Amino acid sequence: MRPEPVPTPATRLEATGIEAGYGSLRVLWGVDLQVGKGETIVLLGANGAGKTTFLKALLGLVRVTSGTIRFDGENLTRMRTDQRVRRGLAFMSEIAVFQALSIEENIRIGAQTLDVRRARARADELYAIFPVLKEKRRAAASSLSGGQRKMLGIAKALAADPQLLIMDEPSAGLSPLFVREVVKTLSDLRTHGLSLLIAEQNVSFLDIADRVFVLEGGRIGFAGLVSDLRRNDALARAYFGLK
Ligand code: ATP
Repeated sequence: MRPEPVPTPATRLEATGIEAGYGSLRVLWGVDLQVGKGETIVLLGANGAGKTTFLKALLGLVRVTSGTIRFDGENLTRMRTDQRVRRGLAFMSEIAVFQALSIEENIRIGAQTLDVRRARARADELYAIFPVLKEKRRAAASSLSGGQRKMLGIAKALAADPQLLIMDEPSAGLSPLFVREVVKTLSDLRTHGLSLLIAEQNVSFLDIADRVFVLEGGRIGFAGLVSDLRRNDALARAYFGLK
């Protein structure tokens, strides 16, 4: 039987031939990656493979020496970070939140590209998605549990009302229970038409991936469906211990 063709959603982000590094150290060697509208992409890779460098290059936090980044058809490659954010990209780093600030303040910082009225309405939308953050909105972020802090990181990144949420290792520092909670939260967010690009080493995130890219030593070693990655025993065993 022939496999069903997989419909490709309209491209939102298209990175082509990305090369980047730090001074004389080249980290990325011609990376191609696309994210469709409403699509969830997981970027897997071992420590030091270049995941963080790639995400930062998308945001303009690391200089791209060669290649092109397009978002909804527009070339962002030489734009400032704030201009990229205004066009709909959001970034959640591993640290994600300002611990000494309150939940409300963190969300306000995330919404700084919106006008005051829109920012307030957006905060209300986020409190409806994350009721626990509303309850504790005047408390310092440091008073939250690890899982709740990650929820705040997601809410802070979503405060600017992005079309693409780019996340660097959302599982970092979380127990397996909290990882499941974060995966569930992200899964619910997909129903809002948001595109997600998640750099991870934790294979739990494959459950919500439409497609997966594997970064190996700064090059894409695999790009395709999760089912194909799971079938690709050699690759899976070598990198992630999947069965
Ligand atoms: P990890 O999961 O460990 O963060 P990663 O896949 O995100 O891994 P990167 O953080 O992008 O990988 O690192 C890729 C390479 O770039 C590594 O060799 C790292 O040592 C190097 N590197 C990262 N940041 C810098 C920096 N600011 N200056 C110099 N080299 C760096």
